[in-house]
Amino acid sequence: MSSTNAFAGSLFVVAAPSGAGKSTLVNALLAKEPTIKLSISTTTRAPRPGETHGKEYYFTTADDFIARTKQGEFLEWAEVHGNYYGTSRLMVEEQMKTGTDVLLEIDWQGARQVKKLFPQAAGIFILPPSIAALEQRLNKRATDEPHVITKRLLAAGGEIAHAPEFEYAIINEEFDVALSELTAIVRAARCRFAQQAARNASLFAQLGIHAE
Ligand code: 5GP
Repeated sequence: MSSTNAFAGSLFVVAAPSGAGKSTLVNALLAKEPTIKLSISTTTRAPRPGETHGKEYYFTTADDFIARTKQGEFLEWAEVHGNYYGTSRLMVEEQMKTGTDVLLEIDWQGARQVKKLFPQAAGIFILPPSIAALEQRLNKRATDEPHVITKRLLAAGGEIAHAPEFEYAIINEEFDVALSELTAIVRAARCRFAQQAARNASLFAQLGIHAE
C-alpha cells in the first residue's frame, strides 16, 4: 500500500473563479456534512471587512510567509492576485490520518500541487452559469475596490482555463442543485474502496478482504 493510501480521510479540493459562489456552496456543504474539516489557509492578503484571523484565513506578512515556505510548512502554496496563499501541511495530514475528511478551497496552482501529493484527492471545479452572471456577482461583492474587481474578472478567465484538470465540474446556476451535486461527490468519495478499507479495517479483516 502506498503512503498516500494510508489516510482514512478523504481530501477534497474545490476551486473556482472569484464570483462563482464557491464559499457559499462550501459553507452550505459543511453545514450539511459537519464532520468535514475546512482547511484555513495562511495568506499575505489584507483582511476584508468582517474577516477574522483564524476564521477565514491566518493573515501574515510576506516575510513570514516566505520563511515558512522554506521550512516546508505548506503542503502547497501559490501567488494569487499578487498575494501569497498556503495550506498547512500539518493540519491536513493530521486530520486525514485520524480519518477526518478535509476540504481545501484553493486555486488551480495549489490544486495541481495537491494532486501530485495525493492523487486520490477529489478535484471539484465550480463554474458560473455564464460570464454575465460572473460579472454581476463580482460587482455585487462590494468588499473590493473597482480595480481589484477588474483584476479578478481578468483572472477568472485564467482560472477557468484550468477547469479541465479537475475530475468534477459543478455549474452553480441553481444553488440547491449545485449543493446536492457537491454533496453527492463527497458521499461517493467516502465510499471509495481504499477509504472504506482504511476506515473499517477490522470489518474488512473479519470479512477476509485484503486490500491490494
Ligand atoms: P480570496 O482572496 O478571494 O479569499 O482568494 C483568492 C484565491 O486564492 C481563491 O481562488 C482561493 O481559492 C485561493 N486560495 C485561498 N487559499 C489558498 C491556499 O491556501 N492556496 C492556494 N493555492 N490558493 C488559495
